[in-house]
Amino acid sequence: MGRAPLVVGNWKMNGSLKPNADLLGGVVGGIEGETCDVGVCVPFLYLGQTQLILEGSGVKWGAQNVSEHAGGAYTGEISASMLTDFGVSYAIVGHSERRSLYGESSELVGLKAKALLSADIQPIICVGETLEEREAGSTFEIVGAQLEAAIECVGVAGIGRSVLAYEPVWAIGTGLTAKPDEAQAVHRFLRERVERKDSSVAESLRILYGGSVKPDNAESLFGQKDIDGGLIGGASLNPEDFLAICRAASAAVN
Ligand code: PEP
Repeated sequence: MGRAPLVVGNWKMNGSLKPNADLLGGVVGGIEGETCDVGVCVPFLYLGQTQLILEGSGVKWGAQNVSEHAGGAYTGEISASMLTDFGVSYAIVGHSERRSLYGESSELVGLKAKALLSADIQPIICVGETLEEREAGSTFEIVGAQLEAAIECVGVAGIGRSVLAYEPVWAIGTGLTAKPDEAQAVHRFLRERVERKDSSVAESLRILYGGSVKPDNAESLFGQKDIDGGLIGGASLNPEDFLAICRAASAAVN
């Protein structure tokens, strides 16, 4: 069974009203004819603006985080049901910047994914190892444990309603990219881990690669059997680059 490729932009903490409108307009203007699924995850404050621009365009939008709580006395937090008010399709959880800068544990990431699923929002659950962990030979152990923690929380059925993203921490925003076969090995490992629990979930699960994906390396990454598209940081801020990456995903047949 084929998996439709998916490309999601992660704007991180970038943007303001006028440049956002130009960027979103540029993406919408060039996306026609692409067969991959496309989304952009924008800062919370710009979800309303993004919804107005993208509604009906075929490009979906999402958030970069969510509270694990449903509501109440959690100053500064945003709940999953608030995201549904803005038509959100996706939300990233467990991005390495959240794990490393804000101390988010794998258990918390699982709870956030669970909160999203109860609001019918698709979590994009990120896993990935640091350079030290890779050099110590513990890549599979680390990503395996991150995945298991998510499964523990949402069950294998919940993983089936999610997207996974393998993002080696050493490749995010650094210009370094995992070699296609290195990335493929980790994607294969993740799919096999899910397969042990439910083979049909494993078969249909989209696993994105993230970490300095650019127009010139997208094709070789997306051509790998278990890489189903990308989570794109820096290059998603430039409409030409983002569209070129979407074209590479549309052309990939896995
Ligand atoms: C990311 O933010 O998820 C990411 C992969 O960033 P970049 O593409 O800039 O490495």
